[in-house]
Amino acid sequence: MRLELRAMALNHLDLWTTCGLEGVKLPLPVTPGCDGAGVIDAVGEGTLLPPGLELGSSAFIAPGISCGTCAFCLRGDDMRCASYKVMGHACDGTAATHVLVPAANLLPIPGNWSFEQAAAFPLVFLTAWEMLVHKARLQAGERVLVWGGGSGVGSAAIQIARFLGGRAIAVVGDHHKAMRCWELGAEHVIVRTSDDVEKKVRELTSKKGVDIVFEHTGAATWPTSMSVAARGGRIVTCGSTVGFETPLNLRALFAKQLQILGSYMGRREHLWTLLGHVERNPTNPPFFPVIDKVFDLANYPEAQKHLAEGKGFGKVVCRV
Ligand code: ZN
Repeated sequence: MRLELRAMALNHLDLWTTCGLEGVKLPLPVTPGCDGAGVIDAVGEGTLLPPGLELGSSAFIAPGISCGTCAFCLRGDDMRCASYKVMGHACDGTAATHVLVPAANLLPIPGNWSFEQAAAFPLVFLTAWEMLVHKARLQAGERVLVWGGGSGVGSAAIQIARFLGGRAIAVVGDHHKAMRCWELGAEHVIVRTSDDVEKKVRELTSKKGVDIVFEHTGAATWPTSMSVAARGGRIVTCGSTVGFETPLNLRALFAKQLQILGSYMGRREHLWTLLGHVERNPTNPPFFPVIDKVFDLANYPEAQKHLAEGKGFGKVVCRV
């Protein structure tokens, strides 16, 4: 299938694809961009389209491509497939006018969402859903510490935690981001530039700590994540934006009976689950993508620079 792109959204993976990652070989040249939305403008002969889509339909892209025939794919764990590829990293992505994608990677755009919103949705929501629902198994009433509450994945995690009855404590860099996190449903917000995160979590939880730590930052925050996790807590991580080598306090790990869970993307099937929750109440959905700034695709390098600076709140999007 070919999608004529109308919008694409940036992720940190765009930066790593552009700058290169130590030890990761990319099939150059490669077009970055994992997320995109547009109009289906060509369909291969005999191709079956997902429900709700036809030639000319508006659609958004599920960013993970897998073989579709291995045991992992057959049971729906496509992100564990040996040939799993994220668009815009191991194959051409969405920083383009058109992109070719397997039909199974397209989904209808929900309700009255714009192309920009649809493009900003898949990667971060799929990632946060997998982490909270399927890895950490968040239960209603549990406390979740969300690092980087102002990031794309952080803003998704706050909303998903609230939707599941969890109590999110977001960590952000400034007071403006703190206000935005409250609006998204965080129960408490810690501004790390003025508060000691560890001390504040102890205060907020009567010294118990949090049941789940939502990690995507890495080395700089890991020791704090270990110390603020409650007994029996789960630390779930999908990234290491600020370093991937960190000491591990084994005594805290076993004495507090912690679980450390690694997570990468999520089942493509769960984008349909998320879509279902949105479509049940399209005018007031339980969660929605938060857009920080929209650039023109011609200014894609500027958009990357803006994302790298980390000053905004939510997703950086390019209009194609
Ligand atoms: Zn496979």
